[in-house]
Amino acid sequence: MRPLVATVDLAALRHNYQLARQCAPGRKAFAVVKADAYGHGSPAAVECLREVADGFAVASLEEAEQVRSVDSNARLLLLEGCFEPSEYVAAAELGLDVAVQGEAQLDALLAAHIERPLNLWLKLDSGMHRLGFSADALRHAHARLQGAAQVAELNLMSHFACADERGHPLNEAQLEQFTGLLDLEFDNRSFANSAAVLTMSAAHMDWLRPGIMLYGASPFADLSAETLGLKPVMTLTAAIIAIREVAVGECVGYGAGWVAQRPSRIATVSCGYADGYPRTAPPGTCVAIRGQRVPLAGRVSMDMLTIDITDLPPASLGDAVELWGNQIPVDELAQACGTIGYELLTKVTQRVPRRYVG
Ligand SMILES: *Cc1c(COP(=O)(O)O)cnc(C)c1O
Repeated sequence: MRPLVATVDLAALRHNYQLARQCAPGRKAFAVVKADAYGHGSPAAVECLREVADGFAVASLEEAEQVRSVDSNARLLLLEGCFEPSEYVAAAELGLDVAVQGEAQLDALLAAHIERPLNLWLKLDSGMHRLGFSADALRHAHARLQGAAQVAELNLMSHFACADERGHPLNEAQLEQFTGLLDLEFDNRSFANSAAVLTMSAAHMDWLRPGIMLYGASPFADLSAETLGLKPVMTLTAAIIAIREVAVGECVGYGAGWVAQRPSRIATVSCGYADGYPRTAPPGTCVAIRGQRVPLAGRVSMDMLTIDITDLPPASLGDAVELWGNQIPVDELAQACGTIGYELLTKVTQRVPRRYVG
């Protein structure tokens, strides 16, 4: 078997969910498991959290069906609502909580013949300008839904654009938009993603919606997951599959871009960009072997990457190589590549087997 595995630490996942709830005592929390639980495997994440989580949130009916097959009665929120009118029937059959983010969805909902009423989440566009009603339109939508046969609970939600930037003026402005609707009657309100769970208690409301923090990565560029008390859930581990000596002036890898400045020992590692390791990783990016950091040497290939183990003489064929996880925070690699931990985690490809521990 190819030595490459994404080990998923379920005890860490549970720890991180509990930490989200401890940030907001007395509130409930939808564990956001969209995008295959941010690449960790939705069925296993749901199975792991079903005893403790108040509910789950996903991006599509297809994702919701997957969660339902593992947990038949958890609250399960469709974050973007239904994409076509026929989906309301399926949503009702699955007993989903459904966001309503615009007039077209509202019209389709009110025209739908569904067998049982839905818990609805009217989405306010409080300033991100991606989905949701303006405050005035939302008041109108609220009035249209009062007493409608399709409605069980009527709830309010919104989403932050800059919660990961503490002190950004848009955060206050969005919160003001939201609290400006507090005179309307809602059963529940929800506003906080991970960043707001961790640092904006005024936004906690009734239901939190933590995503990235559950997986042990930080939503903040300037606050590490470790500082926040989060435990990394995924460790991506490959192995050394070849070692060679490279003389001064000889090159390594595609484009011959890395040239030995000293007699060097180069190891080839069983992970590449087709597994989700970023091809944009700049020179100086490190992996970890035997508890030591070792730099990349040359470009990342599709199935392999090469590293300079000259300064780690004990490194040998077959050694485990951590690409990210406990020793190399995924956020550190993401930042070096000009992206975010969310992208690296969700882009670990299907050919990397997930192994569950804890
Ligand atoms: C993805 C998502 C979340 C979770 O965001 P994180 O930053 O991962 O915590 C919360 N709410 C909505 C609407 C989302 O789409």
